[in-house]
Amino acid sequence: IKKNGKKYAKIAHSVEQAAVLGAGIMGGGIAYQSAYKGVPILMKDIKEDAIQQGLDEASKHFAKGVERGKMDSARMAQGLSRIRPTLTYGDFGSVDAVIEAVVENPKVKKSVLAETEDKVSEKAIIASNTSSISIDLLAADLKRPENFLGMHFFNPVHKMPLVEVIRGAKSSEEAIATVVNYAHTLGKTPIVVNDCPGFLVNRILFPYFFGFQQLISDGADFVKIDKVMEKFGWPMGPAYLSDVVGMDTSQHVEEVLAEGYPDRMAQDGTSSLDVMVEKGRLGQKSGSGYYSYE
Ligand code: NAD
Repeated sequence: IKKNGKKYAKIAHSVEQAAVLGAGIMGGGIAYQSAYKGVPILMKDIKEDAIQQGLDEASKHFAKGVERGKMDSARMAQGLSRIRPTLTYGDFGSVDAVIEAVVENPKVKKSVLAETEDKVSEKAIIASNTSSISIDLLAADLKRPENFLGMHFFNPVHKMPLVEVIRGAKSSEEAIATVVNYAHTLGKTPIVVNDCPGFLVNRILFPYFFGFQQLISDGADFVKIDKVMEKFGWPMGPAYLSDVVGMDTSQHVEEVLAEGYPDRMAQDGTSSLDVMVEKGRLGQKSGSGYYSYE
């Protein structure tokens, strides 16, 4: 990034107006971060209650900022007003960049991306926040694959500095530069990575989850494992982290990795994660996962 910094700065388009698709854990977090850093953002979902939840999350973060003396209530109101919730593509014609953050399912994502491409201007960049799905696979049916790439934030968005910028085979240098620049505007540290299932971080993180799930299958206590990993120095253990990420999302990522690396990442049998999904214990977002949040 340092080496390419000047080159990127020269060709990046400025993102004055952004949009995010999905107001879930990630979409809500991205909307907050963009609004907090001064870039107005449309937040679209297909469910009204998801939009409300996304707005509530953003309000909570702004309120914390006020509580900690980082901003006053006028600045909080101004920040919140930069998030424009919507159920339609009405104002998408004027956005410079769209970040797609809907469910981790290639079919759903492809259909949402095609729909979006028809609503935005020809110059607009479209980035997917996918955790694992190949950018080239998502780009396959797009009319303007040069304007498409990955922009992978981590959870929780307001705390995690890293953003993986994923270069698809057809992504233009301008698109890469624009997203690198936007990530800097959001106060993040972007790294440009090549396209492959799981990209960089999740190819490292998921084998850790697999190890954890195998220990659970062997009868280990997840609370003890969490405590051990905290003592090891990680900010949270794997069970708690699974709850933060969301079991359904992790399960989708596991499927993508198993398909991408059948020899190395395919797991045998039913894991504790599969059991959680089956029981509807999706983690913090559903009120319970390994732990209970009621
Ligand atoms: P989530 O389940 O919290 O939210 C998904 C949202 O997308 C829901 O509100 C749903 O109503 C909405 N949605 C579904 N179809 C839609 C459509 N057609 N248009 C608009 N909105 C639609 O999921 P999440 O955890 O926020 O994950 C979203 C994406 O971000 C996934 O690709 C996931 O892999 C990725 N991601 C997740 C994490 C994480 O830790 N959860 C981290 C990084 C990246």
